[in-house]
Amino acid sequence: MKREVTLTVKGKFVNKYKSGYPLLFKDAIMNLNDATEEGSLLRLVDGKNQFIAKGYFGKQNKGYGWILSKNENEPIDQKFFLNKLREAINFRSSFYNSPDTNAFRVVNGEGDGLGGLTIDYFDGYYLINWYSKGIYHFRELIINALKELVSFKAIYQKKRFDVSGKYIEEDDFVAGERGTFPITVKENGVNFAVYLNEGAMVGVFLDQREVRKRIRDVYAKGKNVLNTFSYTGAFSVFAALGGAIKTTSVDLANRSLNKTIEQFRLNGLNEDSQAIIVEDVFNYFKYAVKKQLTFDLVILDPPSFARSKKMVFSAEKDYKNLLKEVISITEDDGMIVASTNCSSFNMTKFKSFIDQAFKESNRNYQLVEEFSLPKDFKTIKEFPEGRYLKVVFIKKLP
Ligand code: SAH
Repeated sequence: MKREVTLTVKGKFVNKYKSGYPLLFKDAIMNLNDATEEGSLLRLVDGKNQFIAKGYFGKQNKGYGWILSKNENEPIDQKFFLNKLREAINFRSSFYNSPDTNAFRVVNGEGDGLGGLTIDYFDGYYLINWYSKGIYHFRELIINALKELVSFKAIYQKKRFDVSGKYIEEDDFVAGERGTFPITVKENGVNFAVYLNEGAMVGVFLDQREVRKRIRDVYAKGKNVLNTFSYTGAFSVFAALGGAIKTTSVDLANRSLNKTIEQFRLNGLNEDSQAIIVEDVFNYFKYAVKKQLTFDLVILDPPSFARSKKMVFSAEKDYKNLLKEVISITEDDGMIVASTNCSSFNMTKFKSFIDQAFKESNRNYQLVEEFSLPKDFKTIKEFPEGRYLKVVFIKKLP
């Protein structure tokens, strides 16, 4: 175990940490440079050397680590992680018992008191994501805790801090028996092919579960659907199963074609009656306008940042313009499902982008419903940034 480092919190941030804010950031700490070692245990004190909380040092985006406990006498040891994981697993008991869903999040970082770490469940396979070298220092304790609490086919891991890309290799495997990929998992009765051995993106983003279900159950029937930034076509599959007349999936990545065909076939759907297009979404919009194509339901779920040959897309800067393109090819009374996972702006700001886009298009709209993270993506009120997902169903009025 690394040495413990004492950090002094600046006066104006003391209350923030006392009331449960979990993320360490540079401005809040007087002597952050003392804690240069990833994985160091931290003791946060105020100006009078009074204990506030303990945590660990680990660089992750703009953060420097996470609070683990506000109890001075609680050691950060095997028992600590065992308790945290047990609590997290118990919180997901309804998912473990679900007959039609076997893919869900078991540990959601700071939402479960373990910032920097997520664990997902895929039909008996566990996937651990380590988001900093700091949390990776605790791997033995965490993996042991997991092994003690659950039975599993295998445990895999992704070192998300490893920018060299090494984590794409086979050593993603941790324990159990190596899987043969893809494995097929189920979400609300729908099949997904999942690859735990191919890098960070495993085939499905579990946080959109409720949105997919809603599209299938309520919005897809009889509709001509456009799914942009479609990845493996998860929204398209749900729309087709919900009775969409046709789906069109558009994604820039070459892999998306075969992966989308795979998802359709896994659900007994023939891809020939669907369109799967490998292209830059921005080019596709131009094409659609030129050909006067319009859609009844458009799904818009871009990454927070993306770099293509021609441009750099940033959700914060460009979402409004993206929406304007979508508005121009959506039928009157049609529905736009606008989604973003960008944590640098909140729902209020997101709605202001939507409002501006419609105003500048001289069109009226109605906000029909909204979604954020599902229950298994547990968040805490002290860290609203953790509730990154924002999805709004918008009706374009005539
Ligand atoms: N909506 C998807 C997830 C999107 S992930 C789902 O629910 O599963 C983001 C996707 O956007 C990636 O597959 C990436 O290849 C794609 N992408 C990024 N920039 C793009 C662009 N300019 N045009 C089309 N696709 C793009």
